Amino acid sequence: MSKDGHRFSPERLFFLALLLPFYALYGLFLLARAIVRAWRKAKGLRFALASEIRCPNGHANPTVGRFECGACRAVYHGWVGRCSVCGAGAAWIACDVCGVAIPLPWER
Ligand SMILES: [Zn+2]
Ligand SMILES: [Zn+2]
Repeated sequence: MSKDGHRFSPERLFFLALLLPFYALYGLFLLARAIVRAWRKAKGLRFALASEIRCPNGHANPTVGRFECGACRAVYHGWVGRCSVCGAGAAWIACDVCGVAIPLPWER
């Protein structure tokens, strides 16, 4: 008969039990990180779905309209966050009223 018993020796089980809390902590850390990422994404999405975005001076700017792409310089019509010509994501837009840059939260 083979002596396979020492694969699960008490020492090894004790060692595994000792490591288990660390694995659990690591799992919790990964889970928390995933939740934070999902939360940030949801927050960005909320901004993306808003019909207007405000500049630092409080002027309302529509998120759908006529914009110039920073990457290919095409003037496109539609949602501000993505150029319909080259597909580049916009990192910011200039306020219609005062020209101050408005960072787009969903691209950060
Ligand atoms: Zn473009
Ligand atoms: Zn403004």
